[in-house]
Amino acid sequence: MIEITNLVRKFGNKVAVDNISFTVKEGEIVGFLGPNGAGKSTTMNIITGYLSPTSGTVLVDGLDVFEEPQAVKKQIGFLPEQPPLYMDMTVWEYLSFVFDLKGCDFNKKKHITEACEVVKILDVKNHLIRTLSKGYKQRVGIAGALIGNPKIIILDEPTVGLSPEQVIEFRSLIRGLAKKHTIILSTHILSEVQALCNRIIVINEGKIVADQDTPQLKRVVGENNRFQVKIAGPQKEVYNLLRSIHSVRDVSCDGVRDGDTYTFIVEYSGSIDIRKIMFKELANKGWPIMAMEGVETTLEDLFVKLISRKGEEE
Ligand code: ADP
Ligand code: MG
Repeated sequence: MIEITNLVRKFGNKVAVDNISFTVKEGEIVGFLGPNGAGKSTTMNIITGYLSPTSGTVLVDGLDVFEEPQAVKKQIGFLPEQPPLYMDMTVWEYLSFVFDLKGCDFNKKKHITEACEVVKILDVKNHLIRTLSKGYKQRVGIAGALIGNPKIIILDEPTVGLSPEQVIEFRSLIRGLAKKHTIILSTHILSEVQALCNRIIVINEGKIVADQDTPQLKRVVGENNRFQVKIAGPQKEVYNLLRSIHSVRDVSCDGVRDGDTYTFIVEYSGSIDIRKIMFKELANKGWPIMAMEGVETTLEDLFVKLISRKGEEE
């Protein structure tokens, strides 16, 4: 459905996209994962025809984006990193404007109503966009992308600035859209793509460093053998006790004291849950656990794992 071959984009001497190739099949939800500056937006702006490549090709349903931009743009709904919402329009006026801009030939009222229903914004259709919350603005942007019934939806960092509740709503919205559309979305948050996408393309410094099914990538990420624990007790002795527990690989403490409590990050290897042993040993000493929570695997952790795995293969 989308075929990207040897895509390169330079800005002066800076190579923002460095020879990227991948294909996206119909019905996939592909996550484009990478840190800031990796080249995600540049790639998405090229796929959607808003930016020209230095070299390489993008085919959408066999059509070249740069030879037939109008035909290709009709197939793609795009939510850019900064959605071009007109703050002084109402939601309805804006969507009506997008409808005209895209030259749609559906029944206008029916089509816009349907788009509003999908993202649940009918109740605010006569509100000025400027008065809406970030989450609602995001939905208006997505409704705009849905106008014209494109087969493909491309969303650039769609969850930035959303609250945790809004992120959960957004996920279920995307899962709903995925039944009818092929979706590509970018993010710099690993858990985000793991929760939503069936395939993950990891990009760093303009290059693809991994392109895997989500279950495959989850195996690379592995078990999350790390947690954060707050313990009331003498910093050095608690540290030594934690270090002495079998299968604890690393302990760190920032030394910041909250009353008599310190925060430790404990990393362990293997599949044994060390929390029980830890609890017993700390209880023996009379050093209570005040709080404990898992630490999410970050994109940086993933890079380390991908790179060390590459090293093992070579
Ligand atoms: P991402 O979306 O992954 O954060 P971008 O695609 O926006 O990354 O940027 C990739 C690299 O290209 C960055 O180093 C960025 O500074 C550079 N870049 C992006 N757009 C421009 C531009 N219009 N002019 C110059 N450099 C740019
Ligand atoms: Mg970006």
